[in-house]
Amino acid sequence: MDFKQKYDDFFETLHPDYMDEERFVPAVGPEDAKVMLVGEAPGANEVEQGEPFVGRAGEKMNDILHDINAEREELYITNLVKIRPPDNRDPKKNEIEAWAPLLEQEIQKVDPDIVITLGNFPSREMLNTDKGISQIHGRIFTRNGRKIMPVYHPAATLYDRSKTPDLEKDMRKALGKENTGQQKLGEM
Ligand code: URA
Repeated sequence: MDFKQKYDDFFETLHPDYMDEERFVPAVGPEDAKVMLVGEAPGANEVEQGEPFVGRAGEKMNDILHDINAEREELYITNLVKIRPPDNRDPKKNEIEAWAPLLEQEIQKVDPDIVITLGNFPSREMLNTDKGISQIHGRIFTRNGRKIMPVYHPAATLYDRSKTPDLEKDMRKALGKENTGQQKLGEM
């Protein structure tokens, strides 16, 4: 069953203004994933390949996952808004409002142990806060009994490389891959 069929109740009620088949990118990953990653919205590469996080930000994320010994294939990866905003602009408030109920349904269905929100947009939406990501990244919040951890968006680390160690550290914590002395010895 494809993504749209799985969530047909949502798609039947989504106002046509917010749907654009040419810019739509569904989630990927196992339905029983323990960890869910939530991005902002797809970009051009994602639309081309029909999968979230396959462009430059995705490569950065893959590098981090590799470095912390995590498997991308085990993660459920989705976006808050599933349509690429034109000209790479930020998603608008009404677009977020239109798509947020689908994210809630995905969380219910996948039932992950932890939801990792990448960057300001999904973090603010999920945590209902105005706080910026630099203030809240790496902390585990509980929302309706579910763990949520906001982290820097991998794209932000491309512009500001000093954020990479924080993103890596937070991802390790969220995925239970915290560095051990043993691992360091093994790398020598
Ligand atoms: N940035 C996002 O937030 N999501 C993607 O899928 C790709 C880049």
